[in-house]
Amino acid sequence: MSPEPATLLVGALRVDFSQPVNLDEVARINPEVKAGGRSAPKDCIALQKVAVIIPFRNREEHLKYWLYYLHPILQRQQLDYGVYVINQDGEEEFNRAKLLNIGFAEALKEYDYDCFVFSDVDLIPMDDRNTYKCYSQPRHLSVSMDKFGFRLPYNQYFGGVSALSKEQFTKINGFPNNYWGWGGEDDDIYNSSRDPKNEPNPERFDRIAHTRETMNSDGLNTLSYKVLRTDKYPLYTKITVDIGSPKS
Ligand code: UDP
Ligand code: MN
Repeated sequence: MSPEPATLLVGALRVDFSQPVNLDEVARINPEVKAGGRSAPKDCIALQKVAVIIPFRNREEHLKYWLYYLHPILQRQQLDYGVYVINQDGEEEFNRAKLLNIGFAEALKEYDYDCFVFSDVDLIPMDDRNTYKCYSQPRHLSVSMDKFGFRLPYNQYFGGVSALSKEQFTKINGFPNNYWGWGGEDDDIYNSSRDPKNEPNPERFDRIAHTRETMNSDGLNTLSYKVLRTDKYPLYTKITVDIGSPKS
């Protein structure tokens, strides 16, 4: 087993977005990352098998920074992990939650992951002791992002970066598929009302999920989509999907 905390961690990280990122270079300096963005510790058994799921459309610059910063961190955390970018095809309203459900389903087709970290593409941890793994309760991983707008990711119960085990996610039937047009437009309200000191309640996924009246009628059990293509890039797997429209 890997020692915990992993002995390679360095603590607080400098995150800087002034230099452009070249992905060939990122691949070169991460030789242990295999096609599709997979990596596992070489000299110990990883604590968890983690699929990192990123909902995505037209955020190439953010994705480059994400890959540049996260691959070294995830390797230092000694995780057996894969990076899945779930790319929404077409011009319909963005549907973050449905993309996350798809990431869960597609990643499991590829490997026996036991943990799922759902991350916005523009959130990078500022301390590598914040391990991208699962816990006995679903939880938000505290991350921040400066430059692109330094905001804590607590505006939605499934917002920002969250970690759920396969069992936890299955138990809540995943996320709702019918929340279209999420992200961006709610910034103002939440920016003005959020308290950064207010740590998220680790039980809130369960609570919200169980009071959600649609929990059993909308989620993983009703998920429908079409994979249009799968690209195995050196640093990530990109799955482009047709997720339909709000009316269908
Ligand atoms: N997203 C995306 N393309 C979009 C809208 C959203 O890739 O057009 C993804 C991306 O991962 C982003 C997340 O959804 O970080 C949440 O959206 P956004 O950052 O706009 O929302 P906010 O930070 O305001 O909650
Ligand atoms: Mn964002």
